[in-house]
Amino acid sequence: MKARVVVQVADRRLELAEHDVPCVGANEGLLRVEGCGLCGSDVEQFRGHFTAKGIVRYPLIPGHEPVGTLVEVGANAARAWGVKAGDRVAVEPHLTCGFCRACLDGTYHLCKSVRAEGLPSYGFLPLDFGRGLSGGYADYLHLHPRTILHRIPAAMPIELATQYQALAAGVRWAVQVPRTALGDAVLILGCGQRGLGAVVACREAGAGTIIVTGLARDRHKLALARALGAHHTVLVDQEDTVARVQAITGGHGADVAIDVVPAATQPVIDAVEAVRPGGTIVIAGVKGGRNTVALDTDRVLFKELTVHGVYSQGRAAYEQALRLLTENRYGLERLHTHRFGLDQAAQAIMTLGGEIEGREAICVALVP
Ligand SMILES: [Zn+2]
Ligand SMILES: [Zn+2]
Repeated sequence: MKARVVVQVADRRLELAEHDVPCVGANEGLLRVEGCGLCGSDVEQFRGHFTAKGIVRYPLIPGHEPVGTLVEVGANAARAWGVKAGDRVAVEPHLTCGFCRACLDGTYHLCKSVRAEGLPSYGFLPLDFGRGLSGGYADYLHLHPRTILHRIPAAMPIELATQYQALAAGVRWAVQVPRTALGDAVLILGCGQRGLGAVVACREAGAGTIIVTGLARDRHKLALARALGAHHTVLVDQEDTVARVQAITGGHGADVAIDVVPAATQPVIDAVEAVRPGGTIVIAGVKGGRNTVALDTDRVLFKELTVHGVYSQGRAAYEQALRLLTENRYGLERLHTHRFGLDQAAQAIMTLGGEIEGREAICVALVP
């Protein structure tokens, strides 16, 4: 059996190829990919940022947000994963070791192997890893013994299913980590797929006031933020974010602020000023080492702020995200803006990356 795969051979160069579908061992599985979500990491990888840092090497099959149907599951894997052939699943990206202290403590997204060996994660592995087929931009994905799966309902549309990672990020970063509670005022800095996922998660948690920031050119995303339940939106290039938050919260400040803005550092500084004394800040926007935040740590100290860095999602967040997608009480299909075939993978990435004039993307899926 053959699988069509998209291979990244160099920076900004993808090629469609056919690879043999490997055999499935007792601890392994084979997934027929129905769709693969894209996020900012796909854009960064396409542009070569990860090879420049030595994190990945070409050639590789991109795609770390795959969902699909299991066509074959080894006997041991079926027991370990609690699944059978025919089940529909979402795949967690990281292949964690299961033995290091982080794994044993239940914080497996911080697994030593994930941090030490580059990125043992679907979509970032070289072609010679394992038995091959290690990326979601393909007809089939070969499932390594260390894979973590989540079952999804047979009826869930692929436009919803491929949002599982974006929504799980919102759940963990905006609710689980800062312990956002009923009635809280939450400031979400950034309105991409993670920011909008945070809006949904905060609304589900019962936040009393949800404020979302963006640029004037993000008006379509901010309109969607309001439609999803945000109470206020702020145009950071036209308004004073801190002053708006203080006005909205009656001078108290926000209980929680979440930064999901890539590269820009001003959101972190705004977060420190916009949260109340005793408030919580979650830093999730990757600045890429190009920018350092000029943070007045005395402000953090005197206000007794709690600052959390967050990276990745994790089981508890995936389960809640998949529940929200299954129930779909928030019209989450509105986050899905584009779908492309495997032969249009570069188009898909450039669409999400804002490189194509006139295409306003939020969640983009590759559908073989
Ligand atoms: Zn991603
Ligand atoms: Zn580990």
